[in-house]
Amino acid sequence: MAEPSRSTTRSELLDLVLGLRLRAERSREEDWARPLADVAAALAALATAVSSCQGCGLGRTRIKPVPGVGSPKARVMFVGEGPGYEEDRKGEPFVGAAGGLLDRILKAMGLSRSSVFIANVVKCHPLDDPSRPDARGNDRPPSPEELAACRRYLDEQIRLVAPEVIVCLGRVSTQALLSTTAPLGRLRGRWASYAPPGGAPIRVMPTYHPAAVLRDETLKPAVWSDMKAVLAALGMERPS
Ligand code: SF4
Repeated sequence: MAEPSRSTTRSELLDLVLGLRLRAERSREEDWARPLADVAAALAALATAVSSCQGCGLGRTRIKPVPGVGSPKARVMFVGEGPGYEEDRKGEPFVGAAGGLLDRILKAMGLSRSSVFIANVVKCHPLDDPSRPDARGNDRPPSPEELAACRRYLDEQIRLVAPEVIVCLGRVSTQALLSTTAPLGRLRGRWASYAPPGGAPIRVMPTYHPAAVLRDETLKPAVWSDMKAVLAALGMERPS
């Protein structure tokens, strides 16, 4: 950009400032109206980056990376802990028994896998005993180091999809996103907020993990109450 000369008049300077301001506003508008195809392409590029990531030790033992699936324009994002045995083999989050329950919850809400975005706070399977990768039930929660190493991917997914609501499924994703050590029993059912770096604040609803509900059916009413709060926040009716 040319430096204004000494002979530049006051009105020319005002024009220059106005032009710069308009250009800045236009670029902000273009950012907001970022085409969906761009978001989908950025999510696909992120999935490719995850597939070759060795950012923590889980990259050495995973069978398939599990970056996440769903709509690039999802109004709700569901965030779980990390891939388990089934997810590690299929490369998709929530595909085992807990995934079946999540599907039923989505259906009861009038939603589907293709209308929401589903991801985990870590993208590779944390094995309790890495020497037995084929053993079922050989899962553990991700360590703080693994959570920190993988966080950039989830943050980028949240920033790209920019959902109106994030549902944290279980203790690990809730505590990670809200940077707290408070017990899930105290956090669930209460609205919180999270802003990824460079992104706007998003409402967060913590609830129980579907796997916990499968172990203890008495948690069902609490989860349904939380999902009704999500539907109300989105201005959506529960299907009859
Ligand atoms: S868990 Fe995340 S940081 Fe670790 S290797 Fe997998 S993608 Fe990379």
